[in-house]
Amino acid sequence: MSTFLTWHGHANFEITTPDQTIFVDPWFSGNPKADIPLQDVHSADLVLVTHDHGDHLGDALQLCRQTGARLAAQVEVAGDLIHQGLDQSQVLNGIGCNIGGTIEYAGTRITMTQAFHSCVSGTPAGFIIRLKNGYTIYHAGDTGIFADMKTWGELYPIDLALLPTGDVFTMDAEQAALACSFLQCRTVVPMHWGTFPALAQSMDHFADLVKKKAPDTRVVIMQPGERIELV
Ligand code: ZN
Repeated sequence: MSTFLTWHGHANFEITTPDQTIFVDPWFSGNPKADIPLQDVHSADLVLVTHDHGDHLGDALQLCRQTGARLAAQVEVAGDLIHQGLDQSQVLNGIGCNIGGTIEYAGTRITMTQAFHSCVSGTPAGFIIRLKNGYTIYHAGDTGIFADMKTWGELYPIDLALLPTGDVFTMDAEQAALACSFLQCRTVVPMHWGTFPALAQSMDHFADLVKKKAPDTRVVIMQPGERIELV
């Protein structure tokens, strides 16, 4: 009865618990690093969207439609998807949530955090996902580093941080290494790298940087399509 994490490339992660499948930023169509097409996803209970850039909002609408999954997103992003035809009953809290707020679905608690980035509707966000078994995951979305990561780490001891490290649009590896020390996360998986030519193409040096800035954090560098056991 384990919990697994699968990286579908870029910021697209699938978290599988014994009784739930959760997607964050489910970008399959057009994602050069996606290991499977959207049609191969047959079940999802929760779909979380950090912001409405195409490489994050991705296939959220279609995924919710084909699986009946519930959506967690900021009010404005959720409103856009309802406008595009998403059944409002699939939106957690009916209209979504906002930064600082926590919504719950079948024992999974999802807290929205700020992110420093841009987007079209609402503001960019991240999520702290507390699974039923207590395991806590922080998906930072797209963001630069910010010192309040310390606060989130203090409030919700983080087992796993999914941090953007690709530079140009988000933190680079050095900033993300310091972010690990702010968050005091037990494990970090870098994301948002290697997808496009403009992004960093290797995370070989990331482990060394984390060793210096956050020696207590374990670095796991995943490859698209890889699945790891979390707990
Ligand atoms: Zn973005």
